[in-house]
Amino acid sequence: MLPLCSALHITVNELLTGTRISENDYQQKAEENIMNLMTENEENKRNMTLSVICGIITIIAVVSLVVIAAYIAMPTIVRVVLIIAAVATAAVGIGAASVLEAKAGYYECPHCKALFIPTVKQFVKGYHTITKRRFVCPECGKVGMCRKRIVR
Ligand SMILES: [Zn+2]
Repeated sequence: MLPLCSALHITVNELLTGTRISENDYQQKAEENIMNLMTENEENKRNMTLSVICGIITIIAVVSLVVIAAYIAMPTIVRVVLIIAAVATAAVGIGAASVLEAKAGYYECPHCKALFIPTVKQFVKGYHTITKRRFVCPECGKVGMCRKRIVR
C-alpha cells in the first residue's frame, strides 16, 4: 500500500476511504478507519467461534441420534424417524456452520498475498483442508490453496 500511496501522492487513509481528506478531517477519518477495521475483525472472530460451536453441537447431536437408533430397542418406525432426524440435523448443522465460516474473514492468495472474500458458490465448490481452501485468486488469476485469515 505504501509505495502505491507515495506514487499517487495520497495517504493510506485516503486510499482506504476513497476520498481526499483535509487536514481537519484527517484525525477523525483515521480513527473511523481503525474502528471499522476493529469492528470487522471482531465480527469475523465471532462468526468463526459460532461456526465451530455449531459444528460441535451438530456432531454431538448426530452421534447421539445414531447411537440411540442403533443400540436401544424400539419399533422400526421410530428407528427410521431417528435416522432421518440425524441426517436432517447433519445437513442443517453443516450448512449453518459453512455459512458462518464463509462470513468469517478472508482468504490469502499464496502467489500474490492478496486478501479476498470468496463468493458462496466458490466457497461451496472449493476443495479444502482444515485451514486452506482452493480458489482462483481474483487479483492474479492463479489457482492456489488459500490460507484462511480471520483478521486483516
Ligand atoms: Zn493472487
